[in-house]
Amino acid sequence: EYATCLEMFSAAVERGADAPAVRYFDGTLTYAEVDALTDAIAAVLVERGFVPGDRLALYLQNDPAFPLGLVAAWKAGGIAVLVNPMNKQREVGNLLRDSGAVALLTLDDLYATVARDVVDSGQTSVTTVITTSATDFQTRNDPRVLGTDAVVTEGTLRLTDVARTHAGRRVPAPDLGPDSIAVLTYTSGTTGLPKGAMNTHGAMTFNTQTYRDWMDLPEGAGVLAIAPLFHITGLVGHATLAMLLGGPLVLTHRFEPLSMLDAIREHRPFFTIGAITALVALTSAEGATRDDFTSLEVVYSGGAPIPPSVADRIEEEFGFYAHNFYGMTETTSPTHGVPRGLRAPVDPVSGALAVGFPVFNTHVRVVDEDGAEVPVGQIGEFATSGPQVIPGYWNNPEATAEAIIDRELRTGDMGFMDADGWFFIVDRKKDMIIASGYKVWPREVEDVLYAHPAVKEAAVVGVAHEYRGETVKAYVALHSGAEATPDELIAFCRERMAAYKYPREVEVLDRLPQSVTGKILRRELR
Ligand code: ATP
Ligand code: MG
Repeated sequence: EYATCLEMFSAAVERGADAPAVRYFDGTLTYAEVDALTDAIAAVLVERGFVPGDRLALYLQNDPAFPLGLVAAWKAGGIAVLVNPMNKQREVGNLLRDSGAVALLTLDDLYATVARDVVDSGQTSVTTVITTSATDFQTRNDPRVLGTDAVVTEGTLRLTDVARTHAGRRVPAPDLGPDSIAVLTYTSGTTGLPKGAMNTHGAMTFNTQTYRDWMDLPEGAGVLAIAPLFHITGLVGHATLAMLLGGPLVLTHRFEPLSMLDAIREHRPFFTIGAITALVALTSAEGATRDDFTSLEVVYSGGAPIPPSVADRIEEEFGFYAHNFYGMTETTSPTHGVPRGLRAPVDPVSGALAVGFPVFNTHVRVVDEDGAEVPVGQIGEFATSGPQVIPGYWNNPEATAEAIIDRELRTGDMGFMDADGWFFIVDRKKDMIIASGYKVWPREVEDVLYAHPAVKEAAVVGVAHEYRGETVKAYVALHSGAEATPDELIAFCRERMAAYKYPREVEVLDRLPQSVTGKILRRELR
């Protein structure tokens, strides 16, 4: 439908200039306002030497400046680089150097505490810094998410000033096509160092349309941003999706369950997608009731496995079903999804919840080590091809050559397809445990732990063992007020699985380490 994300955005402006594009606490930006603001930002970038193909880094929370930065980068013919706002000096420095960004759009406090040192060090190519305050574009200043200390930055261009000084200026239309890189999105770093995926305009528009059509989302639907926008789920499943629908993107700066609940009550979004851990946090927030979620006609969960018992519990108590959606940074978000309205089956052997069927035009083979397809029902690695697969990693031909062979991506995810065509993920290849010579998939053990009423979060890892090689260890966090001893949890598992699988050791922690995208980090526990 659209060759580039910019065409998709411009079409929304044409259809409904006065429609809300962003809702941020009590503030609203219309499509016409986003169009005007991004004209001004693009103009200042070009004036300062930004040329087609240059990179603008977005080091932001879920703020209005995020979609503004995306569209402005594209209008200037450039590429947006997404930087995790949790990153500190070393990581921000690495990403700015790796991407070669010449411009940076960031928040005052992130600039003052982190980015200024990096830029001043002279070790990056950044020559233009535009700053914005988390309180720009709204007046509520919710201290739960925005903090109370206002930071004012000097020596940078302020976004609100640029809007005034460059009002009415436009840059010539850029020469972009489906193969132009739209965004560098870094992988979550769940298994190693983050890698910069080159998400093209064609891949982005294709998978943004996949969201709309797979879920049958109507024109103008409100999209609640639960996932961070710098992550592929937030980028495609929130930011560009809202542009395609011509609807409002509901933003809350960052994920804080109570202020997110307020945003739902106030803006009544139609759709959201977030990691299951985030949906659990939202529904466990104090005062959350079934009524709060009635506007959310369509809810999906992606980015991490859904324990079947958790999806059931949420549906029973809160009346919405978290449809499974599976994808990766390297596939510009989805490759598989549960069609809206269907319930994903649970595999009786592995206990895994189906991730759905391959989405439009997407071909998935389940292969062995040699890349040969395995029979239906057998476990292998997913090898995926389709218009959403990236051409490669930025500046990293070795990683590209390892992951992408003949335009087919080796996902590192192990699973199988059943006789009806449903796909199931048993776990990541790298996380498999070998205990006494038997393969144990941590996810399977975690799913059993999640079925225990006291367990809120679970993560299973292999620990070195003298006789068994590796042995299974579980870490759990409990629901507030709930109690369970390690022995009780071990016994619970022993009753429900083979002797080589059940955890020999359980440790209860207050909370498990998580990425901002809501993934529980087994790597850190290990
Ligand atoms: P890194 O590649 O840096 O280690 P990452 O793989 O977590 O990090 P992402 O691209 O954010 O980075 O995540 C994609 C991965 O998340 C998939 O390969 C898969 O392992 C997991 N995943 C995503 N959605 C689902 C889902 N619905 N069910 C199970 N696993 C999922
Ligand atoms: Mg990965």
